[in-house]
Amino acid sequence: MRVPVGPGWALVGDASIHQDPWSGRGIDFAATHATYLADALLDGALNETTQVKSLHRYHMRRDEHGLPGYRETTEFAADLRRLSES
Ligand SMILES: Cc1cc2nc3c(=O)[nH]c(=O)nc-3n(C[C@H](O)[C@H](O)[C@H](O)COP(=O)(O)OP(=O)(O)OC[C@H]3O[C@@H](n4cnc5c(N)ncnc54)[C@H](O)[C@@H]3O)c2cc1C
Repeated sequence: MRVPVGPGWALVGDASIHQDPWSGRGIDFAATHATYLADALLDGALNETTQVKSLHRYHMRRDEHGLPGYRETTEFAADLRRLSES
């Protein structure tokens, strides 16, 4: 999991969050987070101050949406037999 933004750049999809494929979340994450980034950019990336805030908002939304699933995916990835026990 990477910090997905910096001055003048942003990451989405597997470049931003790369996880074991067992949970089948990668495509949803890539599409959803690309939408969040587009929203943030449309909101005001045209000047430098607004761009920093917009990219920060994208980072927050990515974490809010992505972290719970990422944690679950990585928690069980080492031994999927535990899924049938829970
Ligand atoms: C075995 C397996 C099963 C999976 N099953 C599921 C599933 O059931 N459901 C699900 O939602 N997800 C699944 N995933 C995850 C999903 O495939 C990825 O999360 C998703 O494709 C990520 O999309 P992306 O656009 O970020 O990256 P990618 O789909 O990897 O696209 C990146 C593209 O950029 C290109 N590229 C890379 N570097 C450069 C460069 N320097 N210049 C130009 N082009 C470049 C690559 O060739 C590639 O075409 C699975 C993954 C694997 C490996």
